[in-house]
Amino acid sequence: MRQNLIYCLLSLPILAMVAWFYLDKRKIKQRELKRIRLRAQPLPPEYLHILQTEFPLYLRLPNELQSKLAGHIQVFLDEKDIVGRNDFEINDTVRVLIAAQACLLILNRPGNYYPGFRSILVYPETYVASSTRIEGMLHITGTSTRAGESWHRGPVILAWDHVLQGARDSRDGHNVVMHEFAHKLDEENAAMDGLPLLPTAAQYQQWSQVLNAEFSVQQQKWADGEDDVIDSYGATSPAEFFAVVTETFFEKPHQLEHHHPKLYEQFKQCYLLDPKQWSAAKH
Ligand SMILES: [Zn+2]
Repeated sequence: MRQNLIYCLLSLPILAMVAWFYLDKRKIKQRELKRIRLRAQPLPPEYLHILQTEFPLYLRLPNELQSKLAGHIQVFLDEKDIVGRNDFEINDTVRVLIAAQACLLILNRPGNYYPGFRSILVYPETYVASSTRIEGMLHITGTSTRAGESWHRGPVILAWDHVLQGARDSRDGHNVVMHEFAHKLDEENAAMDGLPLLPTAAQYQQWSQVLNAEFSVQQQKWADGEDDVIDSYGATSPAEFFAVVTETFFEKPHQLEHHHPKLYEQFKQCYLLDPKQWSAAKH
């Protein structure tokens, strides 16, 4: 009797784990079904109008990718909360342009819609944030103006004037939404270190070889004051290099491929997209 009781007690955690596993599996299945349903819905005409008038890159996409982006936008807007700061009012233009630019990065990448966080905070314009840095024994607190930031496992913060400028000018190589959401992709495998999730061990190896070599060469070039198609902010760290090259890959694909063919090839494989094919396709 006593032995039976001990067996019962010992099996409780196992039963709890099995129940949790099935409940979690059910939740994931329900979420996937909801995503399929949302992706199949036509994009509201007012959303489409915003894309057509404010986001020229959308017009350059092949039809198949335009449809895919429309589906992703609807899932993204269902799963993320976009919240105004400093009395900034969130309207459809804000929601659609943030979602469209963020979802461009995951158009063809399998998996989730930026897991691990839900909130996107939007300031009307460049904002001032306080930060602390450590130098030796000193903690130095200061302020800096920012166009955006991405908190590890936390919110993305954006300045609307930069979001809008990024959407309207898709050839200048600067896009704050792509930059901050590249950081979000980067952190999917734990550290924000310039190494996103890749499908195979061989790809990780190639990525590390090419990115490390390019990062070192670029750091030297930037230190020597040489200009490059990649913005020199990429010299800050491997994580910033990944985010900045992401902006260049989508907005200046021809120049990136011309000056950094190996880098372009790695980003093509990472995003499973070839943006240089889009430019000539439509206007
Ligand atoms: Zn950054």
